[in-house]
Amino acid sequence: MDTDVLVVGAGPTGLFVAAELTRAGISTTVIDKGNGPSTHSKALAVHARTLDTFATRQFASDVVERGLPVRVLRIFAGGTERAQLSIDDIASPYPYMLSLPQSVTERLLLDQLDAAGGGVEWNTELVDARDEEDGVTAHLDGAEERTVRARWLVGCDGAHSRVRQTADFGWAGEDIDAHFALIDAEIRSDVIDRSTAQIFVLDDGRNCGFVPLPGGGQRIILTLTEAPDAEVDRAFFQDQLTTHVDPDLDVQTDEWASYFSVRQRVVDTYRQGRVCLAGDAAHAHSPVGGQGMNTDLQDAHNLAWKLAAVIDGDADTRLLDTYEAERRPLAEQVVRLTGRGTRFIGRQSWWLRILRITALTLLAHVDFLRTRFLGAISQTGVTHTDSPLVQNPLGQAAGSLRAGYFAPNLSLADDGALHDHLSPTSHVALIPTGAPVPPPLTETELLVKRISESTLHAHDGPSSAVIVVRPDGYVGYSGSLDDDRTLREYLAEHGLAPHR
Ligand SMILES: Cc1cc2nc3c(=O)[nH]c(=O)nc-3n(C[C@H](O)[C@H](O)[C@H](O)COP(=O)(O)OP(=O)(O)OC[C@H]3O[C@@H](n4cnc5c(N)ncnc54)[C@H](O)[C@@H]3O)c2cc1C
Repeated sequence: MDTDVLVVGAGPTGLFVAAELTRAGISTTVIDKGNGPSTHSKALAVHARTLDTFATRQFASDVVERGLPVRVLRIFAGGTERAQLSIDDIASPYPYMLSLPQSVTERLLLDQLDAAGGGVEWNTELVDARDEEDGVTAHLDGAEERTVRARWLVGCDGAHSRVRQTADFGWAGEDIDAHFALIDAEIRSDVIDRSTAQIFVLDDGRNCGFVPLPGGGQRIILTLTEAPDAEVDRAFFQDQLTTHVDPDLDVQTDEWASYFSVRQRVVDTYRQGRVCLAGDAAHAHSPVGGQGMNTDLQDAHNLAWKLAAVIDGDADTRLLDTYEAERRPLAEQVVRLTGRGTRFIGRQSWWLRILRITALTLLAHVDFLRTRFLGAISQTGVTHTDSPLVQNPLGQAAGSLRAGYFAPNLSLADDGALHDHLSPTSHVALIPTGAPVPPPLTETELLVKRISESTLHAHDGPSSAVIVVRPDGYVGYSGSLDDDRTLREYLAEHGLAPHR
């Protein structure tokens, strides 16, 4: 074999998968047909659960430092401000939407890969791949044509994935008749501010959104009634914005403009034999709500530690089946939600306009609706409670430390905080201060940390709990300290990797 894993595509998904695998000590080859990291700002919204995810690898603060936290969405219609929607009511240490161009996120992920000792072979394209019994043979085209043998192939090659086509994954879905134009531009306007996001429900029934960019300027997104017949550029936006938003607005410079329509797809399976798919290669949906890259990065985080454990021989391939079990339903949910959102804001009619203003105003004023909405958008509502990989003998008594929930960055009694100790190869077992270490934990060499009773109580957990946190930060097991049998069964069933 030339490499354990061949990762195709060095967008955000491929970079994160590769950084995780490399950090786990897995030999990983990353190729991309492009000639270097992307310079386009594409995904701008980095949501709270993605930052939680980065925190489990100790680089969330680097990401936050480069971005601009947005905490309020102002809603305008008919020339007046109708409501302000607070978007900071999110259960996370990162209670906001971070505005950060995808090109910067990719650079930071590339730094992670680099720090782990890996890198990317640019200008190298996957032409085709064949899944054989003991590995995958891939034909690459770059400076020279060559064949690479890998034990596993991970397709992170985006919406038009060659890996998906060559391995013949099913890819069904629908297109939505909705059209969007966007531009990143410096503007001068007394109406648009730089500290909030703003949405204008226009008189003709369309919508226009503004999100401030961290380096100055705004991302401007405009719904269109049909595909444009001319280029979407600065002149187009100048005309549209002065007509519909602010007659004095001046589009001064532009960085990037684009038009997109909406395709909705989810791949029929996330793994076939030795070929896995992640990110946009596995699901395509509307950019409404900025879910794409956020969903992709969590695919990467979910897949990589499992693949590393399988390659290391700590777990069998059933562990990889839980990647699909945990992530595919979420992709379907994102497709459903963004599809509804797209139809709601992308279509033009007088009654939808009124409904839109009413719905946004309700969201701003009704706490219950806002909390649910923000849980979905920020992805902090994501849980794996139905996963075959989690076990929750404590039931409701586990409180917010229930198996399947994302574990908050709990303060440890003696050694910093939980997320400091997670890595692609480290499960962490938490037991109360002063309690004897349950024998099943000593047998498996898990990293054991102490947590105070008051911290357990603050999360509605019982004082005599054993909590096992997976490498991706989700609780895998919540059980009672004296229930050795169930804990031992859980550890054996899931072949947990010894701590290195
Ligand atoms: C205008 C716009 C705005 C968006 N806004 C947001 C947002 O605010 N928030 C959000 O979460 N998401 C957003 N998205 C979505 C986000 O950009 C994508 O979900 C994300 O880029 C997908 O990442 P990926 O790594 O899976 O794929 P990609 O970023 O598409 O990367 C795939 C990589 O694979 C390489 N590749 C392809 N084929 C091959 C091959 N055969 N061999 C070798 N290499 C190959 C490509 O060169 C590319 O580098 C937006 C998208 C667009 C277009």
